[in-house]
Amino acid sequence: MTATERLFDIDPGMNEFDALVISCEPEKGKFKVVLDRTAFFPEEGGQSCDKGTLGGFEVISVHEKDLVIAHFLSEPLNVGGTVHGVIDREKRFSDMQQHTGEHIVSGIVHSMFGYDNVGFHLGSAVTTMDYSGELHAEDIRKVELAANRAVYENIPVNVLYPDPDELERMDYRSKKELTGKIRIVEIPGYDLCACCAPHVSRTGEIGIIKIVDFEKYKGGTRVYLLCGYRALSDYNAKESSVMSLSALLSAKPEEVYPAAEVIFLNEQKERYDNGVLKTKLMEYEIASLPEYPAGLAYFSEYLDKKNMKRAFQMICARSAGLFGCFSGNDTDGYTFFLGDRSGDARVPGKKFLEQFGGRGGGSAEMFQGSVKVSQAEIHEFFIKYTNN
Ligand SMILES: [Zn+2]
Repeated sequence: MTATERLFDIDPGMNEFDALVISCEPEKGKFKVVLDRTAFFPEEGGQSCDKGTLGGFEVISVHEKDLVIAHFLSEPLNVGGTVHGVIDREKRFSDMQQHTGEHIVSGIVHSMFGYDNVGFHLGSAVTTMDYSGELHAEDIRKVELAANRAVYENIPVNVLYPDPDELERMDYRSKKELTGKIRIVEIPGYDLCACCAPHVSRTGEIGIIKIVDFEKYKGGTRVYLLCGYRALSDYNAKESSVMSLSALLSAKPEEVYPAAEVIFLNEQKERYDNGVLKTKLMEYEIASLPEYPAGLAYFSEYLDKKNMKRAFQMICARSAGLFGCFSGNDTDGYTFFLGDRSGDARVPGKKFLEQFGGRGGGSAEMFQGSVKVSQAEIHEFFIKYTNN
């Protein structure tokens, strides 16, 4: 089959086109349509394919193999007839903003630091680039500033098809992996790179270039990039978040962090004080329980794991027989530690669970578990057990 004419190479601004239907075959529940020419950019080199319609039917995906571009549709088209294609302009323009922005950033990273772009993915929400060396926060800000300067300079983005001799002398990125006619995208002063994707015609069309995040990745750096409308909607989302925080904290938008930090530190201190007070309360309450009765139970809504253990030891010290501590309330039930100064804790423990259900287990020293039962019923159990 002859190569499909790539209209997006000639005019990336082309929204609509007419083409001849060369073939239409069913494949995996869809129809694979090949045209003599197309403005649909296929899925290629880390970038998703164009969206849009052919003959009014939605184009589900677009793939290229051996220079033939195939469109996948849910409906068949008439072979030999002409078909009208419409590109989803919004997605294409956003893809071009991201992709040209990526070239500028990668060109700058290459010239400033000598690193290569070894991974590229233009996703539906964010573009990632993986660079072969480590970049730090101040490097990222330098690169970002230089990239935005390239936007404000509104430089033309040129597409070149150099002959092999010219190509040999050219110092361009992405030199490897390429065969056949090489397409070079040039952003004078910033980048020269082999690339098959559509680009904006001038850098001003990209709008803002914003690196929203970066991280160490496989010995190098992964950078997260948003350009143009994507950067704007990211700004809007973050602005709305900061404005809500600003109202909530009664702080100026640029001062929400110190205001939130004060609240966070106060909360941390209160939580600590609260813990200290709960321990003191527990110690006070246990100290006022009767000493050395046959059965001794302590109830509290405020026992955390650490205080449960401490309460268990304290009650043990002032008990003569069955003893236990219970954390919770009558509505939600209790978690408990049971012990017996005169025998194996598992004996009353098992009886306790037999009577009330719930889960638990333990050793001769301590039996622990949880039950859904009231304080009054537990008291009754203690009386009955110690009287037997
Ligand atoms: Zn590219």
